[in-house]
Amino acid sequence: RVIVLGSLMTDLVARAPRFPFPGESLIGEEFAMFIGGKGFNQAVTAARLGAQTSLIGNVGQDAFGDAFFPALAAEGVDCTYVSRDATAGTGVGCVTIATEIGQNAIVALPRANLTLSAETVRRAMEELLGSQQRAAMTPPGVFLTQCETGIETIATALHQARAAGLLTILNAAPIPQETLPAELFRMVDILVVNEIEASFLAGLTIDTAMTAKTAAERLLESGPQHVIITLGALGATWCTHGENGAPPFHRWQRAFNVQQVDPTGAGDAFCGALAARLSMGAPLEEALRWANAAGAITVTRKGALPSLPTRTEVEALL
Ligand code: ADP
Repeated sequence: RVIVLGSLMTDLVARAPRFPFPGESLIGEEFAMFIGGKGFNQAVTAARLGAQTSLIGNVGQDAFGDAFFPALAAEGVDCTYVSRDATAGTGVGCVTIATEIGQNAIVALPRANLTLSAETVRRAMEELLGSQQRAAMTPPGVFLTQCETGIETIATALHQARAAGLLTILNAAPIPQETLPAELFRMVDILVVNEIEASFLAGLTIDTAMTAKTAAERLLESGPQHVIITLGALGATWCTHGENGAPPFHRWQRAFNVQQVDPTGAGDAFCGALAARLSMGAPLEEALRWANAAGAITVTRKGALPSLPTRTEVEALL
């Protein structure tokens, strides 16, 4: 079983030849709307890979919020604990794509994702953890979260997950706006970051395999049992504590060779797949291969939700 605490966001995407100038009203070429958010994407991936998955999150009482429930139900994600906020609207991302230069500019408004209270999360976790027999927790239940909900909600849930014996995964993405409390990292079994987040958190620039190793070791010292840094087309590096005072142990997981079309969602697929496999009792090394395959499949297709892989696809690539 996988419990995900995280965000639900609607992307409103406008395509125009170029970005508008300040004060200009530019006629665009195309408009599209996509549901996503790191919490949503990661929960959907875990469910697609066959894990029994529950999502804790918050949306507004608006049309954007309405759209998530049938989508989660269709994916088989338990949405009992996706609450609705009467005052804050659903989180949105206003994306402009300038087609002539192939770049985008985004204004993200977390809205309901940040009004989700620690108390609501605490109650949801209590019910989720209480609703199952201990027996159902072996192989270990997995708790997975990111940094798109308030830090207090993350800390509360991590604490409860830890106390209940769940395996905890923190995907420290996007780069947190506030400094994450040091005690947070000590409640984390596996920290997953991409190279930008790792560079920021470790306070160094990752540009070689050597600097990636150094960053992973620094992050390991902050408290987690394992650190995974995803490196796009290069794959991922995994660092863990050495036994009996031995130096940290590193392993490199090379990426699958695929044709990249759109990298959106790769990190989410990676985390969702990692959690799903671990919840089925797989060792970390095997879960990492599944995560790598899930990330690779995601970059071969456009968008986030449509590109998240199924279990059959991951198995075929492996
Ligand atoms: P994020 O989306 O957070 O920036 P990454 O770009 O590091 O994360 O991608 C996450 C994972 O997805 C990588 O570790 C790798 O396993 C897979 N991946 C990403 N890009 C590619 C690619 N071009 N080819 C193969 N696998 C990829």
